Amino acid sequence: METNTVLAELTGDLMRVFEVPGWRLVEMLVGGDIDASDYVATVFERIEKVEEKINAYITVREREAVEREVKERVELARKGRRLPLAGLLVAVKDNINVKGLKTTCASRMLSEYVSPYNATVIERLVDAGAVVIGKTNMDEFAMGSTGETSAFGPTRNPWSLDRVPGGSSSGSAAALAAGMATLALGSDTGGSIRLPSAWTGVYGLKPTYGLVSRYGLVSYAESLEQIGPMARNVHDLALLLEAIAGFDPRDSTSLNYRFESGELVTAVERFEEYRFKIALLEDLVEHEGVDKRVRRLVYAAASCFEEFGWVVERVKVGEIVAKYALPAYYVIAMSEASSNLARYDNLLYGFKEPPKPWESWNKYYARVRGEGFGLEVKRRIMLGSWMLSAGYRDQYYVRALKVRRIVRDRLNSIAEKYDVLLLPSAVVPPPRLGEVIEDPVKMYMLDLVNVQANLAGLPALTAPVGIVDGVPMGVQLMARYLGEQRLFVAARVLEVKFKLNDRVAQV
Ligand code: GLN
Repeated sequence: METNTVLAELTGDLMRVFEVPGWRLVEMLVGGDIDASDYVATVFERIEKVEEKINAYITVREREAVEREVKERVELARKGRRLPLAGLLVAVKDNINVKGLKTTCASRMLSEYVSPYNATVIERLVDAGAVVIGKTNMDEFAMGSTGETSAFGPTRNPWSLDRVPGGSSSGSAAALAAGMATLALGSDTGGSIRLPSAWTGVYGLKPTYGLVSRYGLVSYAESLEQIGPMARNVHDLALLLEAIAGFDPRDSTSLNYRFESGELVTAVERFEEYRFKIALLEDLVEHEGVDKRVRRLVYAAASCFEEFGWVVERVKVGEIVAKYALPAYYVIAMSEASSNLARYDNLLYGFKEPPKPWESWNKYYARVRGEGFGLEVKRRIMLGSWMLSAGYRDQYYVRALKVRRIVRDRLNSIAEKYDVLLLPSAVVPPPRLGEVIEDPVKMYMLDLVNVQANLAGLPALTAPVGIVDGVPMGVQLMARYLGEQRLFVAARVLEVKFKLNDRVAQV
């Protein structure tokens, strides 16, 4: 408590240590205004206090080890090393490999798997001075929209405990919203960063396909997914993306592109100098199934841009992008998943005893895969295999690829004419636990307007702009290929207006 009071004076308002923005914490840690051990202590105390109710983490590291690393990195920064994230505690989704920690993907199948190596993004975080605090809960193998398909139990929404936080990066979003980490990493195949961000009042970005290395990310549907940053304010989100983005020879789909150092943060600071043209994606906002409170949020964001002097025009994406993107996404995602998940047989990554000498291979496979995977994962492996099988492939998979091409062409052509596209992310407020999980189609529908960015490979960001039923909710911004800078500038405009940054739920 004592540290909190000191900090309240230093920050000039009544922030508690665990809700102070990351960029500010770096200054304070390196400048000696706050002690590394006090920072670590407050975050761990917060975890002790609220984690039992939220279930955001699958693994939390030993406090002593975390404290030692935070101190080391702050010390290095004091000695003059450029460490933009010096000492900051980052929560990492449990499908991203961190050396020496389990990577379970929230699945029984990988419940014993300890990673022998670091994903590229983890190496880059460490190079920027950050410290991993733990691995976060998620939908099993990132398949789900609510966080409830985890083999480790559902995560709860810190703003409203009987509601879901959204998935699949459920734990990363909840850890931020509950003050149990300063920054977080998620992965987004069809909305998994943006949906939970939109339902917990945090900022989340799905980067341009290829901008962030996927080396060390457990694949679900690799033609669609990206690792991306999550944070409680735009500045932190930009810092985190700058740290993890850039070419990696170990990922064959990596783009030969890197931001100038400080480029995104500078754009965020100079947001007033930009004049943007915004496309309000009218038929997505008005689409059947979009809650009227969500529509209101999108229109509020549009008015904010207009008040700021920007031009907002209504644009229609057309029926294929609005209606057929979702089925096309699920066909492609399940097809890729069925092939990616074929490797889990309890031999290389075991969770139980190896095959018995008298057991036939077929029986053995059926047994371990039957026990190791949860219901949603099995459903997708079966549907995916079926959709790729002879006779059905053209009818489903090839057709879905054609829809994907149309979605990509249409969105690219809008994104070339406008700086930023404005649309919903979550189409309804967060459901209550158990409300949609029994009905897969209802659950799939939650990503109705999130999957388009993945099909097209375009960057998309969610930013909170209003409160619905006590939960701060976000809208989505999309931009052209490698147009991340525009997203950060527009998100900053919303942040200044709606002031929903750096909020931590009471719990
Ligand atoms: N809800 C979508 C799915 O289940 C998206 C998941 C994700 O982005 N990983 O596939």
